[in-house]
Amino acid sequence: MPSSSGQSKLAALLADELRELGVAEVALDEQAIVTGIKRGKKRNQPKIGFIAHLDTVDIGLSPHILPQVLHFTGADLCLNSERDIWLRVADHPEIWPWTGHDVVFSDGTSVLGADNKAAISVIMTLLSHLEGKEDTHGDIHVAFVPDEEIGLRGAHALDLGRFACDFAYTIDCCQLGELMLENFNAAAGEIVFRGVSAHPMSAKGILVNPLLMAFDFVAEFDRRDTPEHTHDRQGFFWFKELRANDSEAHLDMIIRDFDDRAFERRKEKIEAVAEGLRARYPRGHVEARVADTYRNIASTLKDDPRAEALLFRAFEQVGVTPKPISMRGGTDGAALSARGIPTPNFFTGALNFHSRFEFLPVAAFEKSLEVAMAICMLAGKPPP
Ligand SMILES: [Zn+2]
Repeated sequence: MPSSSGQSKLAALLADELRELGVAEVALDEQAIVTGIKRGKKRNQPKIGFIAHLDTVDIGLSPHILPQVLHFTGADLCLNSERDIWLRVADHPEIWPWTGHDVVFSDGTSVLGADNKAAISVIMTLLSHLEGKEDTHGDIHVAFVPDEEIGLRGAHALDLGRFACDFAYTIDCCQLGELMLENFNAAAGEIVFRGVSAHPMSAKGILVNPLLMAFDFVAEFDRRDTPEHTHDRQGFFWFKELRANDSEAHLDMIIRDFDDRAFERRKEKIEAVAEGLRARYPRGHVEARVADTYRNIASTLKDDPRAEALLFRAFEQVGVTPKPISMRGGTDGAALSARGIPTPNFFTGALNFHSRFEFLPVAAFEKSLEVAMAICMLAGKPPP
């Protein structure tokens, strides 16, 4: 880590800018994790954190991002005349609410990368707005971490001694008003099947085929308990990869569920199916290794209700209607929550992440900043 050199460059740039903004204890490590503390003079108030990720998802589009601001009038938008790339309103009704607004797009050859550069901008602008206002807020911790898109790696690696806040916020994904107080519990499993190899001359009654053991394992799972057949708050098993030779097969799978108990039952099911296979193949060997990846932030939000309460007060203050969503995924906040820092998420204002049609309405982007600002200002004030 980081998985790309661009993240190191961006991290160094941000560390310099943080110092220019008067942020204390700015630290940048070789993993491209940047942290700092905007000191405030208000005492007796929670220590708040903001965290954003440095990386941009790689979905095989151009790595060069050329953003542009277009005014949306209600007509189809040409993103790239040379390559004839258009955003057709018939295919993208989600843009309708932004008729008459300025909207940031890529040039159609790449993602926009508002996920998560919009959040970095919000946090840096927030810090510049807080300059000279030390009397109005307490300590505000910031962190920029790499490699969120490839498994929340930065948030897992972040030294919490450098991000010692009571609770924090990610500003990731999500359109205007959306906030995320709940997400998947996640685990990854690697199932190893060892068979017995033999030459066909002497295979009868001897050979145990690890590939067929893996097939039998998969056959024990409901074919509709998968991402392609589930939605909303339903969980799933997802078989990701199978590697096999005559001696051994490795099956990678992931487990997702919102409900803590159902999540545990899913992990138990894996072990139970493995046990069934051991009985069916007494000369084979089955090993199920399952490890948690991240947790539903809802469980930690219950432990410290301040993070959520403050978020709702901030929304109210800036006049944004909260739209809570259950996220079928995880953010860096899910990794931090699993490590004891309750970290809900609120909107950047962007839509269509991980797509060439990702866009960011300027007005929604500004509201994201207003929410962040309100959080800092309201933290010291007792709720009415
Ligand atoms: Zn993101």
